[in-house]
Amino acid sequence: MIDSEQLLDKTKNQKVNYDKILRQMIQTWQTEKVRPKLIIHSCCAPCSTYTLEFLSNYADVTIYFANSNIHPEAEYRRRALVQKAFVHDFNQRTNQNVAFLEEDYRPNDFIRMVMARELQDEPEKGLRCSACFQFRLDLVAEKAVALGYDYFGSALTLSPQKDSQLINEIGLDAQKIYTVKYLPSDFKKNKGYERSVQMCREYDIYRQCYCGCVFAAKQQGIDLKAVNQNAKAFLKTKQEVNG
Ligand code: SF4
Ligand code: SF4
Repeated sequence: MIDSEQLLDKTKNQKVNYDKILRQMIQTWQTEKVRPKLIIHSCCAPCSTYTLEFLSNYADVTIYFANSNIHPEAEYRRRALVQKAFVHDFNQRTNQNVAFLEEDYRPNDFIRMVMARELQDEPEKGLRCSACFQFRLDLVAEKAVALGYDYFGSALTLSPQKDSQLINEIGLDAQKIYTVKYLPSDFKKNKGYERSVQMCREYDIYRQCYCGCVFAAKQQGIDLKAVNQNAKAFLKTKQEVNG
């Protein structure tokens, strides 16, 4: 199955159009009549919406929720639940068979990584975020190897708030270490982001007001007490509905 490095060599020294690379890879799959198995990282439902709608046309997709960066725990549980529910609803409406996998929540691992590298005071979009992408993409690559996926990738390139060049570079670096191929992407392109906003409305999806970690939330002045209370109230409603 095609490795994106075969296409990237031709674009050296230029800002890479990762959406074009992904589409070229898909064309190769179609020519070879293969339907690869993909494991795609997502940290809440919005970025996974259009990503699933697009990729599930060509591949068997699993959404992997590996996000120990999210604080507080109740908010983590809320986002995981909303993500899982979206995958379920998406399958129901589209007759697709997207899978959902959740990693254990180990917030201390993330905090330890940030503190050990003294990244706690970094601004959002700075070095802490690069380390955070790497921390999570490593988990995705590990899981891809363990479960025999053809490619691992990230839904976060859908977000205009995230540097997709950086995410793709980190993914491609991880590909050199793990025995699994990285799937480059820039899902926001081709009106992907606009479609995700529309899908969030169609599926009535919760959109969070901060990226996830305690460091950025504090810098942004987010009221984490209120976030915690709202998340707990949400989880309680779900427990009541499910008995
Ligand atoms: S980048 Fe933001 S919107 Fe996208 S999945 Fe992560 S937390 Fe959600
Ligand atoms: S702001 Fe978001 S991407 Fe950056 S370190 Fe925090 S959780 Fe990770």
